[in-house]
Amino acid sequence: MFESLTPAPQDKIFALMAAYQADNRDGKIDLGIGVYKDDEGNTPVMTAVKKAEERLLATAKTKSYVGVAGDKTFNKLMIDLALDGAVPDDRVRGVQAPGGTGALWIILMLIQRSNPDAKIWISDPSWPNHVPMVEQVGMPSASYPYFDPETGKVRFEDMLATLDGLGKNDVVLLHGCCHNPTGANLSPEQWDRVIESLERTGAFPLIDMAYQGFGDGLEEDAYGVRALARKIPEFVVATSCSKNFGLYRDRAGCAIAVGRDAKAADLANAQMMSCVRAAYSQPPAHGAEVVREILSDDALRAEWKSELEAMRTRMVANRLALAEAIRARSNSSDFDFVSEHRGMFSLLGLPTATVDQLKDKNAIYMLDDSRINIAGLSGERIERLADAIVAATR
Ligand code: PMP
Repeated sequence: MFESLTPAPQDKIFALMAAYQADNRDGKIDLGIGVYKDDEGNTPVMTAVKKAEERLLATAKTKSYVGVAGDKTFNKLMIDLALDGAVPDDRVRGVQAPGGTGALWIILMLIQRSNPDAKIWISDPSWPNHVPMVEQVGMPSASYPYFDPETGKVRFEDMLATLDGLGKNDVVLLHGCCHNPTGANLSPEQWDRVIESLERTGAFPLIDMAYQGFGDGLEEDAYGVRALARKIPEFVVATSCSKNFGLYRDRAGCAIAVGRDAKAADLANAQMMSCVRAAYSQPPAHGAEVVREILSDDALRAEWKSELEAMRTRMVANRLALAEAIRARSNSSDFDFVSEHRGMFSLLGLPTATVDQLKDKNAIYMLDDSRINIAGLSGERIERLADAIVAATR
């Protein structure tokens, strides 16, 4: 049977990781994979997570199933983290998901069941898994202009012009904060204008919220989704605990559906649960239990928030230092946009030949599209990256 298959496309990030690991040069720099790293290059378990896990280990009484929708307390806490009461509780439903990817999948299935004619509009560029996920669910996708590699900024007027031309069968996938891969984000004023456009056209918003707390702060990063919640009667949000709780492998996230009334929210919830039931029946428990322990305990929550804030401010400091190091060497402001970007990534706008040169000559690994992981930098690595970029782009 399998001989009829054609090879599946290789995931470029994993191929890059393998090349990095096989590189024997001293001082090689990995700016590829999308996980947070500290100054030593480790992706640590957060202290609040460790403490929550110790408590769970000491008190757990069962490993019985958690139920199709997962842990209800976790779902409520995740809804509050994203929306903070911007929508009355009776119109919001959450289903625990295996990571942000799982949440996106549940939401795409829900959209497809709600409107089989829906087309999903994705930013150009976007997280490379968005289009394949939409295709897998069997819906058409299209792209809206988003990033200008020349300036490092959002092509906002072009984006808005496309959104203004959409209608009721269109779904707009927006990154809630910390755009992946570009690092260029909408300002609050730009969010307001996008929301006005959505109100006018009736296009349906899908917010992918994978990095809350990694940009300008936990509350600041939720500006868009909360402003939208106050104006748009129906929308969906996919949240992830992979980055902000460092729970990557434990697969915790939440699929959130907001209906125009309680009846619509219940219908959406029942369909989300039916998708889960037929795919994997129940979500994994551990990651969501850890998050529930942290968010429902004042001391643990405060500890988590301060750890998250330390990660965020370190990434902002790396941005400022890299932009400054390039400016000092090149005497130009060409890469100043890196300091204005937010989140874990910046798209440098370098041609593939330059990306290859940095890899071959300097042992600096970034994605083909020139996305770098800002968390992969620190003191001396920043200096060396700035040297290499300036030399390669002169
Ligand atoms: N959306 C975006 C934009 C992402 O960057 C990621 C993670 N790389 C996800 C969703 C999903 O993350 P996870 O499934 O690991 O929670």
